[in-house]
Amino acid sequence: MSSTLFEKIINREIPSDILYEDDLSFVIKDINPQAPTHLLIIPKKVIPKLSDASEDDQMILGHLMLVAGKIADQLGLDETFRLVVNNGAKAGQSVFHLHLHLLSGRLLNWPPG
Ligand code: AMP
Repeated sequence: MSSTLFEKIINREIPSDILYEDDLSFVIKDINPQAPTHLLIIPKKVIPKLSDASEDDQMILGHLMLVAGKIADQLGLDETFRLVVNNGAKAGQSVFHLHLHLLSGRLLNWPPG
C-alpha cells in the first residue's frame, strides 16, 4: 500500500517544517495556513480518519490532545486556540491520515464554516 502524505513527511521523503516529534506523533506547519498559526498534529500510526479509530487507539488520541496543549504553551499562544478534526471528504478532509488542526492568532468565529 502506498504511503500517506504525512508518512512521506515524517520519513523525510517530502520536505516540511517539523516542529515537534516523539514516539507517537509529530507536528508540522500547514502548507496552506488558515490562521497566523496553523499546525497539524499527526499520529505516526496511520488511522485514515477519526471514525476509523478503535479502543486500541485511545492512548494515541489522548496523546495528540496533550501534544496540542504542550505545543500551544511552548509557542505562547496565550491559551487561545482551536482544534479541528475534519472527518470525511464532505467535512473537508483531504488527507486520509488522521490529524488535528491547531489554529490560532486571529479571531476564531463560531459557528465555523
Ligand atoms: P484536511 O483537509 O483536514 O485533511 O487537512 C489536510 C491539511 O494538510 C490541509 O490543511 C493542507 O493544507 C495540509 N497539507 C497538504 N499538503 C501539505 C504539506 N506538504 N505540508 C503541510 N501541510 C500540507
